[in-house]
Amino acid sequence: MAGFLEALKPDLYLPSLLDLDPAWLVRRGVKALISDLDNTMAAWKNGYPDSACVSFFDRVKAKGIACCILSNAPAWRVRKAAEILDIPGVPNAGKPRRAAFHRALQVLGTTARETCVVGDQIFTDVWGAKRSGLMTVLVVPFGTREFIWTKLVRHVERAVLRGLAERGLLETLSSQGGRG
Ligand SMILES: [Mg+2]
Repeated sequence: MAGFLEALKPDLYLPSLLDLDPAWLVRRGVKALISDLDNTMAAWKNGYPDSACVSFFDRVKAKGIACCILSNAPAWRVRKAAEILDIPGVPNAGKPRRAAFHRALQVLGTTARETCVVGDQIFTDVWGAKRSGLMTVLVVPFGTREFIWTKLVRHVERAVLRGLAERGLLETLSSQGGRG
């Protein structure tokens, strides 16, 4: 059980993408940030990054961190979100397959060790990225609308998060340390 939980443990668990402190990424030696789209930066299936999201990515980029969208969503949606944020996007990614994360690393030109993935799904974003040696940040999903299968998987995710929290393995908001 402990090994199973460890394989699913994000480096950080935050209420929202906007709570991710760019300075924390810098302190961890992060050179690039790969972000999920649906329910991480906008509502599932039809949402797009709002001005708060745009300014978040501007703050990350200002720290010299390259950014990229990695999403299983179709090209037209990912392209539009990428244009709004002025960063590259990899659509139809096929997460949690390792090949998906390697495609994003190729776009960014960084190694797995210096790259962080942020997303809202443990089995798609965190597990997939961890297997490829990337750092991971899990965020609470943006909305409650999602694919029926995802809704079912959420029950398992909640059990995993409970298990991690009970063992004191979950780093949350306060673990980011000082701002700067
Ligand atoms: Mg998502």
